[in-house]
Amino acid sequence: MMRVGALVRGDDQSALEVLSLARALGGDAAETYLILAAPAAQHAAAGAARAVVLEGIADADPAQLLAAAQALIGAAPPDVLLIPDGPLFEAVGAQLAGSIDRPAARDVGSVAIEDGRLQIVKGAFGGKAEVTLDAGEGAVLGVRQGAHQADELPQAAPQVLEFAQPAPLLSGRRAVRDASGEDLGRAKVIVSGGRGLGSAEAYRSLREVANLLGGALGASRAAVDEGWASPSQQVGITGQKVAPEVYLAIGISGASQHLSGMSGSKVVIAVNRDDKAPIFAAADVGVVADWQALWPELRRALAGG
Ligand SMILES: Cc1cc2nc3c(=O)[nH]c(=O)nc-3n(C[C@H](O)[C@H](O)[C@H](O)COP(=O)(O)OP(=O)(O)OC[C@H]3O[C@@H](n4cnc5c(N)ncnc54)[C@H](O)[C@@H]3O)c2cc1C
Repeated sequence: MMRVGALVRGDDQSALEVLSLARALGGDAAETYLILAAPAAQHAAAGAARAVVLEGIADADPAQLLAAAQALIGAAPPDVLLIPDGPLFEAVGAQLAGSIDRPAARDVGSVAIEDGRLQIVKGAFGGKAEVTLDAGEGAVLGVRQGAHQADELPQAAPQVLEFAQPAPLLSGRRAVRDASGEDLGRAKVIVSGGRGLGSAEAYRSLREVANLLGGALGASRAAVDEGWASPSQQVGITGQKVAPEVYLAIGISGASQHLSGMSGSKVVIAVNRDDKAPIFAAADVGVVADWQALWPELRRALAGG
């Protein structure tokens, strides 16, 4: 049986919708976690929940939100964790997914559990279309506002946990530039290559397409471990967190540690020859193909013939 949980901040409309969705999926066993700005007694609507009170929540640092979320969820996270899509999901969604080794997806419109597998419908192509995806045995999901109606929830004061707030991080995105000249933090387009490319030479061939798109060259950790890319090009939980307009993932499987670094991308295009690769759950456009078959055509098209 899949365990379902919801993580919300305060009790605004989107929080109540996500809490209601968690109860619709998980029944009374659904676990609800609240990050609150005020004493918990004012937030009795959410049922038997655990809560952390975080002062100054409106401008809370992402590191504080993440620490609060981790304190709430503890060592036994639910299989499906629902979070309202928006600032809270942006602050903690990908990191939580990485730390519990689950995929993450946002702009999720509906969620169902069928035969022990999670089925989601999410926005694609910048919200112009919807795709139905099998999200496997669990995921961290950013639920779109209005996706589920807010039901009447049982009244119960949440159990408030003590937790130590970390010091705020310095604000501002860190832009890392290395000898290769990549500036992944600012790039509007990132072309990232993984182990599926097969060789250092193949990885280098991505450079031309990245240049044609005015983008930077990123990498999975496997490509860095192979010595094809430099560590500062690594995207992921132990690499860079990036937020380009377009992220192209070529020959990358989509491990949660990689997804957590690229989840801020607006449009994700994935090329992988395995139609079950987890990267497709995070992709707006998925191409099931051997990348080598596509590459000459793409290069020609971008170069204008
Ligand atoms: C603590 C920890 C931290 C980590 N941090 C990070 C991190 O920050 N970033 C990161 O990326 N990883 C990180 N990892 C590693 C992560 O778990 C994966 O091992 C890694 O992301 C895999 O890289 P990959 O997708 O390139 O390789 P693989 O998982 O080997 O995937 C290669 C993919 O290429 C496809 N493929 C093969 N040939 C072709 C072809 N000809 N055409 C098209 N597709 C093809 C395959 O189907 C496969 O899906 C971390 C791991 C741990 C334990």
